[in-house]
Amino acid sequence: MKKAAKITTLCILLLSIAMLFTIVSFANENDYETLKDVKLLVNGRIIQLERELIAINGRILAPARTVFAQFGARVDWYPEYNLVNIVKDNTFIGMFIGQKTVAVNKIVKEMDCPPVLLRGTVMVPVRFVADALNIDVQWFGNIKVANLGSIITEEEASRSAKPYSGKIVVIDPGHGGYETGAVHGGIKEKDLNLDIALRLEKLLKNEGIIVYMTRKDDRYVNLYSRSGLANSVNADMLVSIHNNADWYNTSGTMTLYYPETAMKRNGITSKDLAAIIQKEVSSYLGTKNIGIISRTNLAVLRTSKVPAVIVEVGYMTNKNELKKLSTAEYRQKAAEAIRNGILKALR
Ligand SMILES: [Zn+2]
Repeated sequence: MKKAAKITTLCILLLSIAMLFTIVSFANENDYETLKDVKLLVNGRIIQLERELIAINGRILAPARTVFAQFGARVDWYPEYNLVNIVKDNTFIGMFIGQKTVAVNKIVKEMDCPPVLLRGTVMVPVRFVADALNIDVQWFGNIKVANLGSIITEEEASRSAKPYSGKIVVIDPGHGGYETGAVHGGIKEKDLNLDIALRLEKLLKNEGIIVYMTRKDDRYVNLYSRSGLANSVNADMLVSIHNNADWYNTSGTMTLYYPETAMKRNGITSKDLAAIIQKEVSSYLGTKNIGIISRTNLAVLRTSKVPAVIVEVGYMTNKNELKKLSTAEYRQKAAEAIRNGILKALR
């Protein structure tokens, strides 16, 4: 009761302050820059963020909850008021989406940039919030790494920022050349698969991962040379990308694997890999989670000596899913989702 009353008081206080300001800076999704190669460490260790860091007015913003929960802070988001409260020990920060005015323990301050809401994630200015919560901030400009919490050297930061460096992933865009895969609404599966794969390649290389592609353009590739590539480079995993089709208007994501349990890399089997990727992709894309399916008759999976999966991102025969798959934004999101799964599996 006491806490709720406090929040309400603060809400009212902040709302009235906000109304006093005639010039209110609203940030929208076009005002920010995505920081693809900036890494954020917490106490010298990399943390997995649900989305990339962004910058507004030269200030770095990060997902509030994921980052500050690491320090025991509680982040409450009230969409009806556009209000974000961050509470840690005796510190109480109240801020509004799109506004630079902020209250720290009821003292009104001005930030250099406002918090923003991106695809449902509350992004807050990292340095401002860290300072307010008495968390140390280090910025290593040379290597583009920020560290919150315990102090580390640049060498440590550099090592921690690329924990996947040297890992080997083979990406296999399904079909190619005369083998189109499913064709629906004038869209060929081989093209969707390749586009998602090329986006994924870029994302993985950003992490310092060594990426091999079974094809980088529209050409026919033999099934055995797909798994053969993964075997010959002794990859940590083989991830084949496909899209589905059926006669029943099914929608959703599924991941296929060959039920070989002896084969392990990084402590995981193909089945484990399938489960991790399936969960990440369906939740990140918001698709129906059809689940993981054991398949013994697929050459790519059966002949792979390293953990291997086929991700069936969506159904081209479902009107809604095909519409989404035909946008670059959704294919980028699909690549990010698969990347998240791969990184989780490599940990
Ligand atoms: Zn296919």
